Amino acid sequence: MRVSKMFLATQREIPADAEISSHQLMLRAGLIRKEASGIYAFMPLGYRAYRKVEAVIREEMDRAGAQELIMPALLPAEAYQGSGRWEKFGPEMFRLLDRGGRSFCLGPTHEEPFTETVRDYIRSYKQLPVTLYQIQHKYRDEKRPRFGVIRAREFVMKDAYSFDTDEEGLDKSYKIMYEAYRRTFDRLGLDYTVVDADSGAMGGSGSQEFMVKSEVGEDGICYCDSCGYAANEEKAGWTRGGADTSEMLAVEKIHTPDTKTIEELVGFLGCGADAFVKTIIYNIDGKFVAAMCRGDRDINETKLGNLYDATEMELAAFADVELITGAKVGFAGPIDLKQKIEIVADTEIPNMKNFVVGACDTDYHFKNVNYGRDFEADKVADITNAKEGDICPKCSKGTLKMARGVEVGHIFKLGTKYSKALNCVYLDKEGKENLMVMGCYGIGVSRVLAAIIEQHHDDDGIIWPSIAAPYKVIVIPTKVNDEANMSLAEKIYSELTDAGVEVLIDDRNERPGVKFKDADLIGIPLRITVGRRAAEGIVEVKERAGSEAREVSLEEAVSIAKGI
Ligand code: ATP
Ligand code: MG
Repeated sequence: MRVSKMFLATQREIPADAEISSHQLMLRAGLIRKEASGIYAFMPLGYRAYRKVEAVIREEMDRAGAQELIMPALLPAEAYQGSGRWEKFGPEMFRLLDRGGRSFCLGPTHEEPFTETVRDYIRSYKQLPVTLYQIQHKYRDEKRPRFGVIRAREFVMKDAYSFDTDEEGLDKSYKIMYEAYRRTFDRLGLDYTVVDADSGAMGGSGSQEFMVKSEVGEDGICYCDSCGYAANEEKAGWTRGGADTSEMLAVEKIHTPDTKTIEELVGFLGCGADAFVKTIIYNIDGKFVAAMCRGDRDINETKLGNLYDATEMELAAFADVELITGAKVGFAGPIDLKQKIEIVADTEIPNMKNFVVGACDTDYHFKNVNYGRDFEADKVADITNAKEGDICPKCSKGTLKMARGVEVGHIFKLGTKYSKALNCVYLDKEGKENLMVMGCYGIGVSRVLAAIIEQHHDDDGIIWPSIAAPYKVIVIPTKVNDEANMSLAEKIYSELTDAGVEVLIDDRNERPGVKFKDADLIGIPLRITVGRRAAEGIVEVKERAGSEAREVSLEEAVSIAKGI
């Protein structure tokens, strides 16, 4: 391709909402173009890179024995009503009506249509196992679309679904996908960790996420450096300390003016945040729940939501908190609530002694409160986040460390959740009907592209790993009006084109500095510069990934380029 003819969408001005490197670079290098919040077009260069990533994923899926098909993205409501997800998805689902008033959605994920498809065609255990996949646009009206294609509202996902006769079969299918994922991300040059993930309200017996390590990642990862345990923060457990064996003291109501936050209270009473228990009131699908955890900890909303099988969950409105507690916000506690609501306490709380809680009275707290004697919770459960330094839940010896990551893939043992809801059965050897046992496996294809850039760039631009590069080589003649210079550049260009190497020639009448800058920005792995020594058949080669420029003969340059 000739750069002079290329539809280059490079951009000088970067909008302020492009906060992270990959997003900025994708815009600057002209890979994507924003159409609306969380909705992007892939420009020619970006689309080439995107197709490279897609090709690797497709190869590994095919190699794993999965078969590709394509479902509609526009789906009738009935497809999701059978599983209950038409309601469950809430505002994240894009919904629309056809001219006859029938409800449709743009598919956010496709468990239901795949389950129905397999149900309608497969009768016997002899036809199982089967794994189907597609690479398709998905639609989710994300609360906070951001980071370009990392969290978009229209994005591309590879989603696969496995169907087996039993759990043992599912374990095998899952393992095959796990291996395929490892190969995919290894080949794409990503530095990633596999972590235990929350299986949430989806039910199921196991789930892992592939996290690309990155400081800008939206997901927290907890890991133990002693036993190798690694889990998404949403799911990570931690080992609670033993019970405090101090004597219980008498409860006292204390005047604590202007101490709405834990920090203010710590300052006022002069003790640590771990001497308090905070009570936070949530509205979970219209029902109020008081969640309690130690003052220096945070409620884990995923764990809390799972406990109540929540669809929508948010902090209760101030006005509701005031009605429930009879006090200003900041003084909630489990004792003297004016309205009876469900109380859930983290498992740490029954082990604590003589702690401070809000008194449900403005400017007052109770001290020396003890679980069991002064109040009880309706539920005691793990509802808090693990913190750096907590004891590992697996080996109970090592301490937990935290890192950040971008989730690029997710594999999930679904079990029979969808086959049961949608009656996806097969006949076994005895002719008896059984539910198929399912797994689902997603990769965010467009997100992977951004993750590659996030991990492979420098101040000058993208540094594509060869496998994902839109073009592998760029030939730069420094003087397009010089006969010897240009004809050598053209010769290299046509030799490489004939050899099937994806090559660019920057034949624009621009200064070499401008061309080098652009080549660095768009990240082409190998640059061949035809300069001063063109007449002698000597050119300069330089790898984008860092090597020094070096002079080589024309033949050598061509052979290096073929090996990229
Ligand atoms: P997240 O926790 O990041 O919202 P998820 O758990 O909702 O992800 P899945 O339903 O497991 O995601 O989807 C499979 C894959 O699709 C994810 O691993 C991720 O790579 C990708 N993905 C999910 N949501 C988005 C999005 N809004 N934009 C781009 N890619 C996404
Ligand atoms: Mg996920």
